[in-house]
Amino acid sequence: MVSICYVMIILMIFSYVRRTRSFTVFVSIVLLIILAATADVSFYSLISTSDPSRSNLAYAVRCIYHALLFSIFMLYVVYIIEVTSLEGRRKRLYIALSAGVLVAVVLLDVWQTFSGRAMSINGTSLEFQGRDTFIYGYLAFVAIILVLMFQVRNRLYRRVMLGFYATMAVSFIILAVQGIWGQSSFTVATFLFPVIAMFYIMHSNPYDVHLGAIDQKAMEDMVRYNYENKREFVFMSLYLKDFDEESKALPPEIQSIVRRFATDFFKDTMLAQISNGQMVMTFTKHHNPNYEARIVQILSAFRLQYQKYGFDYKIIIGESVDEISRKNEYVSFIRDIQRRIPDNTIHRVDASDVTTFKQMDHILAALDDISHSENLDDERVLVYCQPVFNVDTGRYDTAESLMRLQLPEIGLVFPDLFIPLAEENGYIHVLTKIILNKTCKAVQDMLKNGYSVSRVSVNVSPLELKDEHFCDDIMEIIDNSGVPGEKIAIELTESRNESDFILMKNKIAILKQKGIKFYLDDFGTGYSNMERIMELPFDIIKFDRSLVLASGSSERSRKIVSNLANMFTELDYSVLYEGVEDESDEQMCEHMSASYLQGYKYSRPVPIVKLKDYFDH
Ligand code: C2E
Ligand code: CA
Ligand code: CA
Repeated sequence: MVSICYVMIILMIFSYVRRTRSFTVFVSIVLLIILAATADVSFYSLISTSDPSRSNLAYAVRCIYHALLFSIFMLYVVYIIEVTSLEGRRKRLYIALSAGVLVAVVLLDVWQTFSGRAMSINGTSLEFQGRDTFIYGYLAFVAIILVLMFQVRNRLYRRVMLGFYATMAVSFIILAVQGIWGQSSFTVATFLFPVIAMFYIMHSNPYDVHLGAIDQKAMEDMVRYNYENKREFVFMSLYLKDFDEESKALPPEIQSIVRRFATDFFKDTMLAQISNGQMVMTFTKHHNPNYEARIVQILSAFRLQYQKYGFDYKIIIGESVDEISRKNEYVSFIRDIQRRIPDNTIHRVDASDVTTFKQMDHILAALDDISHSENLDDERVLVYCQPVFNVDTGRYDTAESLMRLQLPEIGLVFPDLFIPLAEENGYIHVLTKIILNKTCKAVQDMLKNGYSVSRVSVNVSPLELKDEHFCDDIMEIIDNSGVPGEKIAIELTESRNESDFILMKNKIAILKQKGIKFYLDDFGTGYSNMERIMELPFDIIKFDRSLVLASGSSERSRKIVSNLANMFTELDYSVLYEGVEDESDEQMCEHMSASYLQGYKYSRPVPIVKLKDYFDH
């Protein structure tokens, strides 16, 4: 017994172990089992000497042995409570109840043993009196544990619970059988069985015991297996942005919903949890011939849950693609699509997603090269410009610079494909410097040739503001081009948190001294914290196209947007509407305090050299 415990300890040290809080309880259980086994061995060696003077000592050791076994039971209860995060009244009740039983049976056991009611030592043999408290204590604890496990059964993945029930059944059967044969040599072993199960199921299993989810590695094994056996499968990915961070675990409620989703709709499903907020469910087509209908059902069930909880999501549904299976790249494939789709959308994967994904490698390599060569005139980075209509003058005198990449293998690449990639990989600032440099030079050139340019704006990613050289870099490029600062504007989106906000405020203040103007981009899509917006010295508020669309479709939205625009105008901001596509958009916006209008109605983005066609000479 003791040696099996040592093997357990060796396993604990040398295998992968999930070191949760419950693991401490687990380790204590193993230690108590070692002590119990040692006590058991000592007891038998004491009575084998047949020295009557030692019988009191033997009684004491036996009591200790029993007390240890009951303490193990108590720790089982604590362990189950820990693992299932049981809180509050029920937690206290179970702890109090098992502590009560523990004290009672230990006292009773001491009394019975020393008064010779439980058993007596007769020479080297034992005589049982048939009144052993042990069995009552044992049954009491088993009852507590069974009721507790029944109560918490929905807090763990079903297979985990079944694993425990099965192990407990084995323990009881062995104990009962040895009871019938009047033996006790396997008693400690029956305490060890659940521990072995705990170790494998709870602490060294690739799947998460709450969600029943496997991890990315295990998912990749599954993909490889399916690919090698030519099994087509379907994957459904759910991304919950709110839980994307390491520290934010899914709440138990959501876990239980995900668990039900994974088991109730498809046969043979595998659920993988890639990060807290990223889950991927897969099932084979072979086992689910009617999966299309089931997908419709699961999505409508999902929408119901979404109405209730409202967490932002992105859902991607696709079928296995050989090229992606071969390289086992589903996780990056899903992430790539996620990057491109808006929040709260359900996306069905098609061939173009695969093409785009394959292009990613090229794009990343190009970005890496561009960033390392740091050539501010890099020919792969193109500046397109969208002229902006000035409502007061009826002419074009401002524009927005929009970036494109021209890559030999792919052709023209649009920002939705590479901006997020550049941001994630730290290439964005170099790109901004190139765009700014090219914009400044083009504006300077137009000014020299007598065009009337009020200013051209450049998009800056909020991440860049964290760069301590940001302001210096911007000023240096503007100075080198010789263009006056006020001919350049920077478009920024709203900051999300307090520290970003302060950073933004400081950087804007520095660059404003140089005459640079500031636009608040995409107003109406973010958090729109008015208090913060008012604290920043923006010149122009760009109302996002979604606000134009909303105003066009409901009177109520139109009133809200119109009032907001009015308020900004009264506070000396200029209002620009983005995404003005036709005459009716234009008329509506003109009635909503517009100073500037931008959109396909006037022009699509054109190469910056073409801007001359729009501006006055
Ligand atoms: P954004 O800053 O909101 O830019 C406006 C986008 O709306 C542009 O897309 C433009 O082509 C598009 N657009 C213009 N008029 C209309 C219209 O009437 N209807 C519709 N539906 N769309 C219209 P584009 O050029 O694809 O850029 C997409 C986004 O990529 C930009 O959104 C911006 O967030 C980002 N981006 C573009 N260039 C840069 C850059 O140089 N630096 C950074 N950091 N981001 C950039
Ligand atoms: Ca913009
Ligand atoms: Ca915008």
